Amino acid sequence: MDLGIAGRKAIVCAASKGLGRACAMSLAREGVDVVITARTPGPLEETADEIRSATGVRVITVASDITTEAGRAAVLAACPEPDILVNNAGGPPPGDFREWTREHWIKAVDANMLTPIEMIKATVDPMMKRGFGRVINITSSSVKAPIEVLGLSNGARSGLHGFIAGLSRKTVKFNVTINNLLPGPFETERMRNNLFHIANVKGITTDQARELRRKENPSGRLGDPAEFGDACAFLCSAQMGYVTGQNFLMDGGAYPGTY
Ligand code: NAP
Repeated sequence: MDLGIAGRKAIVCAASKGLGRACAMSLAREGVDVVITARTPGPLEETADEIRSATGVRVITVASDITTEAGRAAVLAACPEPDILVNNAGGPPPGDFREWTREHWIKAVDANMLTPIEMIKATVDPMMKRGFGRVINITSSSVKAPIEVLGLSNGARSGLHGFIAGLSRKTVKFNVTINNLLPGPFETERMRNNLFHIANVKGITTDQARELRRKENPSGRLGDPAEFGDACAFLCSAQMGYVTGQNFLMDGGAYPGTY
C-alpha cells in the first residue's frame, strides 16, 4: 500500500537507537525526509548514514536533549514546520515511590509529559493551517497495565494520555491526528539493559532472562523494533486521517483484558 506521505517532513525525537530509530527508518522508507535527534552525536550520525543509504531521503541530525528548552529549540530550528512529529525520550528509572522526591517527579513529568506537549504546541497550529499533520507519542504499555516498579512512568505518561485525549478531538477536523503508540517488550538497547539487570538480580545469564521474558509473552517472543516502526509509519499515513486520540498497544498480547 502506498501510504501517501512521500515528500513529507518528519521530526523523530530520540531516534539514534531503538524504537525512535525504527520509526525514522520506516518513515524514510516511505519517502519522508527526517530530522532525527539524540543526545550523543556518534550513534546519531551512524543512524543517519544508515537511513540515508537504505532509503535515499534527506536526513538531518540534531544532537540535543529533547527534554530541555534549548534542545527542543534546536530541533525546531532545523525543521520549524514538520508534517509528522514523533515524540519520544528515555523513560524514567524504576524504583519505590517512597524514595522519590519532588525532583524525581518533576524530571519524569518534564521528559514524558511536558516535552511532547511543548513539541505539539510548537507544531500543531501550522499543521492545522496546512490541512495535514500526524503526531505519534511513543509511551508505554504501562499506561494501560501499570508496572509496579515504574510508577514514575505510569504516572507521567498517563498525564500525557489525558491531555492528548482532549486535544486530539480538536485537531482532527483539520486532518491533524494525534495518537499514542504503546510498546510492550521490544528488543532494544533499553530492553537489553533491563534484561542484564534482571539477570544480575536473579543470578542467571542475560540469555536466560530473555528466555523467561519471551516465554511469559503470549506471542512467545519480544517485539522487533521494525514492527513498531512500520506501525508508526502506517498511523502517519494519508489513509489514517479518521483515527485520532487512540492508544495503540503493541505488546504481543500481554495485556489480558477484552477492552
Ligand atoms: P533505547 O533503545 O535506549 O533508545 C533510546 C533513544 O532515545 C536513544 O537514541 C537515545 O539516545 C535517545 N534519547 C534518550 N533520552 C533522550 C533525550 N533526553 N533527548 C534526546 N534523545 C534521547 O530505548 P527504547 O527501548 O527505544 O525506548 C524508547 C521509549 O520507549 C522510552 O521512553 C522507553 O521507556 C519506552 N518503552 C520501551 C519499551 C521497550 O521494550 N523497548 C517498552 C515500553 C516503553 P541518547 O542516549 O544518545 O540521547
